[in-house]
Amino acid sequence: MDVVYADNNATTRVAPEVVEAMRPFFEEDYFNPSSMYDAAHGPAEAVKAARASIARDLGGVRPDERLFPSCATESNNTAMFGAVKANPARRHVITTVVEHPAVLNVCKELERDGLEVTYLPVDRQGQLDVRDFVRALRRDTLLVTIMHANNETGVVFPIGDLARIAKETDPAILVHTDATQTVGKLSIDLSGELRHVDMLAFSGHKLHAPKGIGCLFTRRGTPCRPFLLGGHQEAGRRGGTENVAFIVGLARALELAVATHQDDEPRITTLRDRLERELCARIPLTEVNGAGAPRLGNTSNLSCHFVEGEGILYQLSAAGICASSGSACTSGSLEPSHVLRGMGVPFTASHGSVRFSFSRYTRETDVDRIVAVFPEIIASLRRLSPYWDSATDRPRPEAEGMLHGAPAGPHR
Ligand code: PLP
Repeated sequence: MDVVYADNNATTRVAPEVVEAMRPFFEEDYFNPSSMYDAAHGPAEAVKAARASIARDLGGVRPDERLFPSCATESNNTAMFGAVKANPARRHVITTVVEHPAVLNVCKELERDGLEVTYLPVDRQGQLDVRDFVRALRRDTLLVTIMHANNETGVVFPIGDLARIAKETDPAILVHTDATQTVGKLSIDLSGELRHVDMLAFSGHKLHAPKGIGCLFTRRGTPCRPFLLGGHQEAGRRGGTENVAFIVGLARALELAVATHQDDEPRITTLRDRLERELCARIPLTEVNGAGAPRLGNTSNLSCHFVEGEGILYQLSAAGICASSGSACTSGSLEPSHVLRGMGVPFTASHGSVRFSFSRYTRETDVDRIVAVFPEIIASLRRLSPYWDSATDRPRPEAEGMLHGAPAGPHR
C-alpha cells in the first residue's frame, strides 16, 4: 500500500533536484571550504553561491546577512540568546502563547535568567489583536519574537506590520520571526514587506531540503552575540565547519520553491479546501481551526468533537495515511495542544484534533484516500466515545447514517 503523506509541516521529502545538487559535495568536492589548497575552492565557491542565491530568494538582501545553523531550533536559539547577550540593559521580551517550543522554551529560560516575557493571547481563530501588541511595547523592550505562521493551524501573523510598529515605537527594539512554516510556502521579501524584521529563522527540511540545515537571516548591524563559539567560520558568528552539501541543498530547495510557487500554491490550496469541504460535509461536529483567519494554503487543522487525536492517528496510520495530532499524545501526557488551548478550542474538540499538511507532491488521489477513510474512522471512534452520550443528544453515529456521508454542514 502506498503511503499518503499529509504531514509536510512536520517534514518534507527531499526533492530529487536537491539530492542531485548535493551529491558532488559528498563524493568529489568533499574538501573543507576553509582549507588553503586549490581543491577546496570548489566547496568554498559553492557556499558563496548558495549564500547569494538564498539572499536573492529572500528578497534581495545581502549575502553576508545569513548564518547556516543546523535547524530552526538552533536558528531561534541563536537569535534570541544572541540578542539578549548583546543588549543587557533591556530586559523585556514580547512573544505569543502559540509559538513553537523552539521559541517558548527559550522564553522560559530567559525568564529564569530574570527577563520579563509578555505572552500575547490569540482569539478563537488564532489571530493576534494588534492593539494588545501595541500595549505590550515598553521602554525596556529588547526583543519581539513572533512566528510568521503557526505550524499547527497555518494561521499567518502580520509580521511585517508588527515589525513596522515596533520600529516606529522604538528603532532599538529587535524583531525576530520564526518563519519555519512560511519560507518556501509564501513569498518572503526582506527588502519589502518584511524590511523591518531584523532576524528571520527557518529550516531546510520543511521545504524539501534535508534535515540538519537551518538558516538565520540577521540584518546587517543587528546587535547579536554569537551562540556557538569556535572557529572563524561565518565571519566568527557561528563556529563549526560549514555543512557544504546541505547548504547547497537548501539554496536549491529554496530556488525550486520560489520558481514553482505561483503554480503550486493555488493547486495545493484547492486540494486543501476540497479536503475540508468534503470532510466537514461527511462528519458532524467537525470544525476547521483557524478557518476565519489568513492561513497557509497547505494546512488543515480539524477538530472532531468527542474523539481523541491519538486514536485518529493510530487508525489513519493503519490505513497508510501520515498526519499528525495537535495533542502531545506522543509524550504520553495526552495534554491538548497549547496552540488550540490558546485559541480557546474546547477540550472535547482539541483532543480530537488532527492536522493534514500538503506539499507540491500531494495529489488529488491522496485527498480521495483521506476522504474515503477518515469519516469512518471518526464514526468508529465515536461509537466508543465515553463523552458522546453525556455531551450530545445525538444518536450514536451508526444510527445516524454518518458513515455514508449524511450532510452535516461545515464547521459545526
Ligand atoms: N518552528 C516551527 C514553527 C516549526 O514548525 C518547527 C518544526 O516543526 C521548528 C521551529 C523546529 O524546526 P527544526 O526541527 O528544524 O528545529
